[in-house]
Amino acid sequence: MTGWTLGIETTAHTLSFGLVDADGKPYPAASDTLRPDEGGIHPREAADHHKDVAAGLYAKVLEMHGINQNQLTGVAYSQGPGLGPCLRVGASIARGIATRLDVPLIGVNHCVAHIEIGRQQCGCQDPVLLYVSGGNTQVIARLNGRYRVLGETLDIGIGNMLDKFARLQGIPFPGGPKIEELASAYLERCPNPTMEGLELPYAVRGMDLAFSGLLTAAQRLVENGTELDAVCWSLQEHAFASCVEVAERAMAHTGKSELLLGGGVACNERMRTMSNMMANDREGTSHAPPKMYCIDNGTMIALLGFLELQNRTTHLNQSGINQYLRTDQTPIQWA
Ligand code: AMP
Ligand code: MG
Repeated sequence: MTGWTLGIETTAHTLSFGLVDADGKPYPAASDTLRPDEGGIHPREAADHHKDVAAGLYAKVLEMHGINQNQLTGVAYSQGPGLGPCLRVGASIARGIATRLDVPLIGVNHCVAHIEIGRQQCGCQDPVLLYVSGGNTQVIARLNGRYRVLGETLDIGIGNMLDKFARLQGIPFPGGPKIEELASAYLERCPNPTMEGLELPYAVRGMDLAFSGLLTAAQRLVENGTELDAVCWSLQEHAFASCVEVAERAMAHTGKSELLLGGGVACNERMRTMSNMMANDREGTSHAPPKMYCIDNGTMIALLGFLELQNRTTHLNQSGINQYLRTDQTPIQWA
């Protein structure tokens, strides 16, 4: 008999427990994100945070949905990619719960989980995925039984770039939402903006992207006295346009007509609007899941675990983590 599948997400700064029911229907996660007072995330500090809040969050997710842990019939965790110390905490919590309850364990690919929750939520069949998160920026499509990375960032993830730029202005993590607010404020005070004086490098290299030059140049504009809200607007326009351009090329090359957004930066309204415009121009469609399923969340891990448990389980002696797990290393064995 199938009951609930638990999903545990710990690839970076967020610890999150989510659930899907016996039909694979997702339920909102209980999450807690480490927000450092200053500087970026230190992997070991994030891992310590995850250990500290794990027991409370696990109890919370069960309580939120009124279930008892004996109703769990599978435990899924993010096996990679991500920060080693953080991944290890998730894997050991998963091993502990699965062993205690004597239910199957399954280690899943975090990037693939973003795709599957998006497909499930948006009803997409065969999309090109634009995966824009803190640590990752990839354009992905399903070809010959795997999700293939057609293009990606050659340096930092787009979310990291936004967070670093924000931090230089004294804005705490996560910086992306605040940059979005400042960019909107600029459009209110300057409804017909031009790029004059706000040009930044635009780093699309074939199907790949780069963001560190953009970060440096945006910071230089601020240091030279350009108003911060104007720089935020230009930064969003340049960074998002480069992602959407690569996604468009991927749609053209693969002949696919659906675009699916995933990752925390997919919460951004301007990113969603640009993607819609591009897809409409091509007579295609653009989709984005609810924001709680764009950011890292345990529910997407539970969903992919539920799908994968129909074909395989992870034995304890293979339940180590893989910091460098690639999107295309996971065979797609589910419908
Ligand atoms: P993830 O790594 O998928 O959990 O997403 C976290 C990243 O998403 C961080 O870099 C955030 O700054 C970014 N983010 C969250 N909300 C927004 C937003 N509204 N606009 C831009 N970036 C965002
Ligand atoms: Mg992610």
